[in-house]
Amino acid sequence: MTVNHDPQSKPNFDELTSALRDIYASGAVPDELQSTIQFALNELDTLTQVEAENEEAQRLAALYKVCQMLGTSLDLVEVLNQVMDAVIGLTNAERGFLMLVEEGGTLNFRIGRNFAQETLDLDDMQVSRTVIDTVIGSGEGVVSTNAQDDPRFSKTDSVVSFSLRSLMCAPLKARDQVIGVVYVDNRAREGIFTPDDLTLLNAFASQAAIAIDNARLYTRTDQDLADRVSELETLTRMMQELNTPLELGSVIGITCNWAAKATRAAGSWIAFRDPDTGGLAVMCGSQKDEFIAKDDPLVAGVLSAGTPHVYEPQNGKPARLVAPILIENQVDGVLVVEAPEVFPQKALQFLTRLANQAAVAIQKARFYDDIQRVNDEKSKFVSVVTHELRIPMTSIKGYTDLLRQGAMGEVSEPQKQFLDVIRNNVERMSALVSDLSDINRIAGDRLVLEPGVVFVGERVNVALKALQPALDAKSQMATVQIPADLPQAYADPSRVEQILSNLINNASRYTFAEGQVTIAAAVENGFVKVSVTDNGIGISPEDQTNIFNQFFRSEDPNVRQETGWGLGLHVSQRLAELMGGQMGFESVFGEGSTFWFTLPIQQPAA
Ligand code: ADP
Repeated sequence: MTVNHDPQSKPNFDELTSALRDIYASGAVPDELQSTIQFALNELDTLTQVEAENEEAQRLAALYKVCQMLGTSLDLVEVLNQVMDAVIGLTNAERGFLMLVEEGGTLNFRIGRNFAQETLDLDDMQVSRTVIDTVIGSGEGVVSTNAQDDPRFSKTDSVVSFSLRSLMCAPLKARDQVIGVVYVDNRAREGIFTPDDLTLLNAFASQAAIAIDNARLYTRTDQDLADRVSELETLTRMMQELNTPLELGSVIGITCNWAAKATRAAGSWIAFRDPDTGGLAVMCGSQKDEFIAKDDPLVAGVLSAGTPHVYEPQNGKPARLVAPILIENQVDGVLVVEAPEVFPQKALQFLTRLANQAAVAIQKARFYDDIQRVNDEKSKFVSVVTHELRIPMTSIKGYTDLLRQGAMGEVSEPQKQFLDVIRNNVERMSALVSDLSDINRIAGDRLVLEPGVVFVGERVNVALKALQPALDAKSQMATVQIPADLPQAYADPSRVEQILSNLINNASRYTFAEGQVTIAAAVENGFVKVSVTDNGIGISPEDQTNIFNQFFRSEDPNVRQETGWGLGLHVSQRLAELMGGQMGFESVFGEGSTFWFTLPIQQPAA
């Protein structure tokens, strides 16, 4: 028996002991040396024991050191690097790999290192699947001193073809689950790893698994958060688009676009339940106007259950995600996205949230459409009625005037009074018809203005002239304060006159006899500002908030004794705005009011 003796290497106590025992047993040892050899053998035993304890201590120290470093980072890539460095350092393996079980159960190669701590990639990963599967399946580590002769693996193709000899594999276990494996090997030499090495690798792997699991949870939470934020951004942007009052068609179109964009689908469509047939009528997307029959699995699945569904691609049909559109807790329709490939799992939850948001907008759009329809009907009705009323009123007015002038014979005083009442009432009705017609046209964007140069002074005089009899009847004094150099305004002259008539008429009606009405104009903030001031009844603070509302009239008896419809100020304000100006007022209850409006200044020709 020879004992290898390399002065550089540590003495091998096992070989030395066995050589000495052989010599001792051979009987060739002289008597005087026997006790010395016996002593040497005892010393060697002690040394072997100390050496073993030392090695164990060193292993534990190394393990302690690498484990300390774990858990300092939550970055998965960094943790995997740390683990791989430590595995190679602890085991002195030629190569090492780490594989992780991913969401969905697949085992993926994540990182590899060689002895020189160089990174290995997937192509270098000639490992034995049998070994890995055994470890994953049993949750126990495996060590083989020479896999070529190991009955467990020697028949395995990979072990033979990759010439694997020494190999070791330990499970990564966290939260009672095998989350992956660490695998080390040496293809050329046998006997590199011992069961003690496996104990060490197992101990390390259990620490490493916790660090990897934590980093994965953190990354996942981080990713989930990022996904949620991006999802919220998408939904917010979609809702911003849907926020303006829109017709149902636009709401459906916008929703389809966002659904396809956000889920990276090839197509998307919305279909609503047809109450008569129970099927689905497609409203947008490539299948627009198609009808999906009641017995189609899609209809049956989603409409009846009211829950979202995933359809895998099959029989030439694409992969589909279907989210119900719930309106007042009833399945009213479906939002569908489709693509040739299966959608990621998260997409369905997102689509469901998108469908819920869209349902709110769809409901709003339906209300909006209903209101539009009713408005259109009302508008048509008002337009017909005002037109039809104008004709008889014109003839009533004309014949009354003729009668009043005595064209049909002499008219007595009482008859004149009756004719005046008729005339006044027709005037009142005519004003109402005219205001209603204006409101109708303004609401339907059909009011046609004829803008041009406006000499405000001229318009004031025309309006005042028509109202002079009313002012005189109450002995009211009207004063006009318009500077000679007042610039011309740019507006529709007849509409300016209409506003002035309304304001002067109000000033007269809501001011006691012998009151004062002042019509003034000046330039203010680049506009011509026209104001009508009276020292009449004024407007109470609570009435002031409603003054421009349609049909508003104060409950004040001084107001109620005058006839009116509460439409003049509303129409006047809208007209001023349509001509590019504004209208407002200041009033002190019991003291008087000033109503004003502004008009753009006529710009000199270029
Ligand atoms: P109408 O005069 O036909 O009632 P308007 O729209 O012109 O309709 O006016 C609405 C209401 O505003 C009036 O009923 C009245 O209560 C109030 N109002 C308008 N002008 C004056 C004013 N100059 N002084 C006091 N109240 C006024």
